Amino acid sequence: MSFEYAPAPESRAIVDIKSSYGLFINGDFTESQDGKPFKTVSPASEEVLAEVTEAGPADVDKAVRAARRAYDRTWSKLSGRDRAKYLYRIARIVQERSRELAVLESLDNGKPIRESRDVDVPLVAAHFFYYAGWADKLEYAGFGPDPQPLGVAGQVIPWNFPLLMLAWKIAPALAAGNTVILKPAETTPLTALAFAEICQQADLPPGVVNIITGAGDTGRALVEHHGVDKVAFTGSTEVGRAIAKSVAGSNKKVTLELGGKAANVIFEDAPVDQAVEGIINGIFFNQGHVCCAGSRLLVQESVYDEVLARLKRRMSTLRVGDPLDKNTDIGAINSAMQLAKIRELSQIGEDEGAERWSPACELPEHGYWFPPTIFTGVSQAHRIAREEIFGPVLSVLTFRTPAEAVEKANNTPFGLSAGVWTEKGSRILWMANQLRAGVVWANTFNRFDPTSPFGGYKESGYGREGGRHGLEGYLAH
Ligand code: NDP
Repeated sequence: MSFEYAPAPESRAIVDIKSSYGLFINGDFTESQDGKPFKTVSPASEEVLAEVTEAGPADVDKAVRAARRAYDRTWSKLSGRDRAKYLYRIARIVQERSRELAVLESLDNGKPIRESRDVDVPLVAAHFFYYAGWADKLEYAGFGPDPQPLGVAGQVIPWNFPLLMLAWKIAPALAAGNTVILKPAETTPLTALAFAEICQQADLPPGVVNIITGAGDTGRALVEHHGVDKVAFTGSTEVGRAIAKSVAGSNKKVTLELGGKAANVIFEDAPVDQAVEGIINGIFFNQGHVCCAGSRLLVQESVYDEVLARLKRRMSTLRVGDPLDKNTDIGAINSAMQLAKIRELSQIGEDEGAERWSPACELPEHGYWFPPTIFTGVSQAHRIAREEIFGPVLSVLTFRTPAEAVEKANNTPFGLSAGVWTEKGSRILWMANQLRAGVVWANTFNRFDPTSPFGGYKESGYGREGGRHGLEGYLAH
C-alpha cells in the first residue's frame, strides 16, 4: 500500500524576483550596450519569471576589461589570506540566504526543492568554505613553490545545477587569485544574478566577479575574447569540442567538463534494496539532468528479475510534480527543447526494439514533464545505450561475469563516472581499477564533496574540478 501525501508547498514569498535584470559588470548592474532582453520562465508552469539581458560583444568586452582591471589593480595584489576572507564571507551569506536561493533555483530550473535545499545550496556554501581554506596555502597544493594565478577566467556553465556549477567555477578561480566573467545558461540565469547581489553584499572589489547573461552567442564571444586567459566550460560534448577548436593555438588554458553515459553495475551479491535506492538516485536525481547520471544500468543476470521487480515497485512510489512541494521527487524538465530531445530519444529506443515502461503517474497540465522511464531489452548498439539522454530515462542491460561487466561499462565514448554495487571490497577495488571513469562510486551514487576531484576521460572532457586538483586549472606553475 502506498500513502497519499497532502501538498506541502514551500512558500515563494521569500524570493523577490525583479521584473528585469541588467548585466553585472564591475560591481554594478548595468544596462546592456548592444544586447537585447529575453525572458526566463518557470519550466513547471511556463510562467515568465523575469526579463534578463542577452549580452552582446560590446558587453562581453566591457566585462573582460573590468575583470582585467580588477585583476591588475586589486585582486592579484591581495594576500591569499585577504582573498580567503572574501570567500568565507560569500560562503556565509550563501548559508544565510540558503532558503531564498533554494526557492529561486527550483523556480527557475524546475528541480525539486528537496534537492535545491538539501543538496545544491549546501554544496555551494561548502565549495566556498573549502576553497577559502586553500587561498593562503597555494604553495602547499602540489603545484610548485610559488604558483601564480592565470589572470582573467571566462566561465560558461549549463542549466542543470546553475548555482552549484557557478560555485565549482568561481570558488577555485578566486581562491587562486584570478578574476572571472561567468555566463550562466540561457534558461537558468536567476541564481547567478542573486549571486551577483551576494558579491555586492560581501563587498567584493568591483570587477572581481562579473556575471553576463545570454545564450550561446554570448558564451562564444566570451570564450573567444582575446583578453581571456583561461576558459572553463561545463556542458555538452558538442559545444565543448567547438570551444576546444576555437581556443586551439591561443595561450588560453582550458578545462572542459562534458557529457557522460555512466554505467551503474549491480553484482549478484549486492544488497538489493540499497542498490535499488542507488539506481533511483543515480538516474532520477535532478530529473536525470546530471552529466554523471547512472543512465546505463548493468545488472548481473542471476538477480535481474528480482532487481527489476523491486525497481519497478520503487519507481511507482516516486512523486512527479510541483518542484516547490517538499514531497516531490521528480520536478520539471528544464526546457521545451530538452523535453523534445528526451521524447525523441525515447521514441528511438522504442523504434529500435527496446521495451519501455513507466509507472502510472499523472503529469501536470502546464510546463514540461516526463515520467520516470526504463527501457529493458536494450543492447549495447542501441542509441539509448550510447547517447546522453539527459532526462529521467534508464537503459537496462545485463551481464554474466565481472569481466563482461567491465567490458560493457567501458564500451562508451564517455568516461565521467560509474557505480559498483557489491558486498566484496576486493571486487570494488578491482572494478575501480578497470573502469575508465573519472569517478567510481562504490555502494552509493551521485555523491559530491568539495574535497573530491571530479572530471572525465575521453569525450567527457579534461581537467578536474573540486579538491586540491581543482586549483590546478587556475594556476600557472
Ligand atoms: P550546451 O553545451 O549548449 O550549453 C552549455 C552552456 O554553453 C550554456 O551556457 C550555453 O548557453 C553555452 N553555449 C552554447 N553554445 C556555446 C558556444 N558555441 N560557445 C560557448 N558557449 C556556448 O548545452 P545545452 O543546454 O544546449 O544542452 C544540450 C545537451 O547537452 C543536453 O541535452 C545534454 O545532453 C547535454 N548537456 C550536458 C551537460 C553536462 O553537464 N554534461 C550540461 C548541459 C547539457 P545557452 O544556455 O544559452 O545555450
